[in-house]
Amino acid sequence: AGEYIDSLYDGSPILLVSILNGAFVFMADLCREVKVPCEIAFMAAKSYYEGTESSGNVEITMDLKHDISKYHVVVIEDIIDTGLTAKFLIDFINNNFQTKSTKFCSFLDKRIARKTDVKPDYYGFEMDDKFVVGYGLDYEGYFRNLDYIVYKK
Ligand code: 5GP
Repeated sequence: AGEYIDSLYDGSPILLVSILNGAFVFMADLCREVKVPCEIAFMAAKSYYEGTESSGNVEITMDLKHDISKYHVVVIEDIIDTGLTAKFLIDFINNNFQTKSTKFCSFLDKRIARKTDVKPDYYGFEMDDKFVVGYGLDYEGYFRNLDYIVYKK
């Protein structure tokens, strides 16, 4: 993914925007692979669930503060499941900010569970429809600190 981000560089700086909390570990690894001039920023989003399904109702609990019009923005997510959260975030950024371009990069892509037409511009791994924890991903707040990904059979 570092090489993908490097390839976006055309002289305008790159802004990596990590979506908290889940993407903080991926962001920390990914930003160290980027060799072109880049800055980092954080947004926090809370997805509301109906049972185990994300409802598409997303609350932005921490927003980008500064003018980002000079940047190629790369939004960094932990996982795209139904895609409802990603769709909300992409629309939110496009409606509220001017950017040079906006790309979407996710560590995991649970494509089989998709309910929207959201496709990441770059993803680390495609996975089955399983609930995973570790490497930033939680279950009720726990397990984000595991340095591997695990699922319950
Ligand atoms: P979506 O809106 O695409 O259905 O869900 C996106 C969010 O749901 C992710 O950012 C993540 O917080 C959470 N999520 C989706 N699948 C998983 C999973 O397998 N494990 C964990 N821990 N969280 C998940």
